[in-house]
Amino acid sequence: MQEYSLQMRKEGKKIGFVPTMGYLHEGHLSLVRKAREASDVVVVSTFVNPTQFAPNEDFSKYPRDEQKDKMLLENEKVDAVFIPSPEEIYLRGFQTYVEVGEITRGLEGQSRPTHFKGVTTIVTILFNSVMPHVAVFGQKDAQQAVVIKRMVQDLRMNIEIIVHPIVREKDGLALSSRNIYLSEKERKDALVLSSSLRYASEMIASGEMDSGEIIGEMRKKIEAVDSSSLDYIKIVDAETFEEAPSLSQGGKYYILVACRIGKTRLIDNLLVNTGKSELFV
Ligand code: AMP
Repeated sequence: MQEYSLQMRKEGKKIGFVPTMGYLHEGHLSLVRKAREASDVVVVSTFVNPTQFAPNEDFSKYPRDEQKDKMLLENEKVDAVFIPSPEEIYLRGFQTYVEVGEITRGLEGQSRPTHFKGVTTIVTILFNSVMPHVAVFGQKDAQQAVVIKRMVQDLRMNIEIIVHPIVREKDGLALSSRNIYLSEKERKDALVLSSSLRYASEMIASGEMDSGEIIGEMRKKIEAVDSSSLDYIKIVDAETFEEAPSLSQGGKYYILVACRIGKTRLIDNLLVNTGKSELFV
């Protein structure tokens, strides 16, 4: 991988990179198209990273379809696909990790305490392998994108990070590889994540600025769905990821929700800009 990238760099090509865990969908492909726009050569990795899953999580049953992924990426005319094995990534005797501080503690980090250490470590290894100029991440994992940006800045990694909006089904469900776990009924129930976010955006558009009120209404909607088990709803400052007890005019915030539908843990979020009313896509 490094040899390829060094050659591309020697030829003066700008390398765009999209790291994924495979089982690709339109959300991933939108990142690939964004990388294409921003660079000359596009590299996509597919690697289900064991260190970002806790022992009780779905690592072994995480969906995989290498052939289909390769076909989709070929259709997108990506220049290289990087599919390393766990042994190639985690060399014998591996013992070096990258850990970002405060912003990894709340939200996903609170529910999944070892998750971000796994993410920042694998992303560093992938960055050092692919040596991109630009990397594209999805707003779907909004906290992850902020954590990666922090890491890149703190460790002086010379890589531009682009964050691309969430791709949704027509009915609002955010695309996710994990949607495959949902039964037909759960698939319908899962719409409560996006519909409660939409409801929150309507509350804000009509002047509600109290986070507690907004979260309370969202909670009611989610808890009314029998297959749901709410993990968190949070409203945070979009830059710092610090909790915002109330919204102020002209501010930018993420409303984030994590919820189990049946056994499947789903996340979704909405970026709100209280100065404007372009609230929901
Ligand atoms: P994953 O394969 O789930 O690790 O995701 C790889 C990248 O795709 C991450 O940057 C995700 O945020 C992004 N992604 C996943 N789902 C979506 C979506 N529905 N819309 C946009 N980006 C997404």
